[in-house]
Amino acid sequence: MTETLNIAAIRADFPILQKVIYGKYPLVYLDNAATTQKPRSVVEAMTEEYYNVNANVHRGVHFLSQQATDLHEASRETVRRFLGARSTSEIVFTRGTTESINLVASCFGEAFMKEGDEVIISEMEHHSNIVSWQLAEQRLGIRLRVCPITDDGLLCMDEFEKLFNDRTKIVSLTYVSNVLGTVNPVRDIVRISHEHGVPVLIDGAQSTPHMKVDVQELGCDFFAFSGHKIYGPTGIGVLYGKEEWLDRLPPYMGGGEMIKTVSFERTTFNDLPYKFEAGTPDYVASTGLARALDYVTGIGFDAIEAHERDLTAYAMRRLMEVEGMKIYGPGAEERDAVVSFQVANIHHLDMGTLLDRLGIAVRTGHHCAEPLMRRLGIEGTCRASFALYNTREDVDALVEGIRRVSQMF
Ligand code: PMP
Repeated sequence: MTETLNIAAIRADFPILQKVIYGKYPLVYLDNAATTQKPRSVVEAMTEEYYNVNANVHRGVHFLSQQATDLHEASRETVRRFLGARSTSEIVFTRGTTESINLVASCFGEAFMKEGDEVIISEMEHHSNIVSWQLAEQRLGIRLRVCPITDDGLLCMDEFEKLFNDRTKIVSLTYVSNVLGTVNPVRDIVRISHEHGVPVLIDGAQSTPHMKVDVQELGCDFFAFSGHKIYGPTGIGVLYGKEEWLDRLPPYMGGGEMIKTVSFERTTFNDLPYKFEAGTPDYVASTGLARALDYVTGIGFDAIEAHERDLTAYAMRRLMEVEGMKIYGPGAEERDAVVSFQVANIHHLDMGTLLDRLGIAVRTGHHCAEPLMRRLGIEGTCRASFALYNTREDVDALVEGIRRVSQMF
């Protein structure tokens, strides 16, 4: 294992990792692609805010309201810096990646797409990047064009180029597959799309916890991620959008905060980003998210990436020692922190359930990617996914656990 991370100190930041499940190992938590555990700094900052600062933001003249507002807006600045965005106007707080994608599908669709227009997605998308566009399909009569993948789980870039035509209005693709771990060539995707004059939405749910992101360097027009997958709280996420796009989109939901003036005859909308933030925001969660981003940037993505890449490669090597093992997706070089597998004819649900009895948490099923399962000709997989606090010992426990389960069949 790389020694650049002080894993013992990091693990001490996450109290839940000491939990003993069914009297077995201290928790071997390998379900990080679903959600990550939270460090003390995140939980404590949120507790402190509830105990000592709590008041609704933006509309209060009193002390606490102003303090809570300052914290909330400072968190937006932390997100801006984290993403490398030009302005906090480009940072919209949402409930997570799902809401961010729905916002774009709904508002971009309404503003820029009409019957027969097309969105390009891919075979490896999460349901949130499929169904949100299908809703626009039903409402507006737009069409989904689906970029195929290779048997190794890589995007077919030749086919991607061929999907463009004069009806293509937007490209919406995941950065990293939550099933295969494939890291897609986002810079090429953005370059090709822009050559066709088409904007790009990147689903960063699975990339953001694992690799440094700079939206200006990537050049994407929209970028979505979830707080809970990057050591932050549930219920908060981010939509980054270039100001020139966000400015031209209609609001998503109506309510307080998103207006300038309201009358029964005519309502005017607030400036960015508030135009997209109807209702009371989760201002405590935004504090938690900011502390989570501080946590990962404090450790540094160079060290995080090196550690997780090492761990992923080690896991793939060790898992392949198991008889009957099939790993889905590309080689370790092209994947990130996610390994989906199947062992002989042991049903993934049985495998996951029995691993759980050994104190090992993995995810089983279709992973909200049913079309991808169909493409792979399977119903589901077992998925181990890693975070910065996982160790080679966790991988060894997984391999040992799988061996024990295999012997039962
Ligand atoms: N996209 C991808 C690639 C994901 O892995 C997930 C979560 N599994 C989502 C979108 C949706 O994220 P959330 O449930 O946090 O909105």
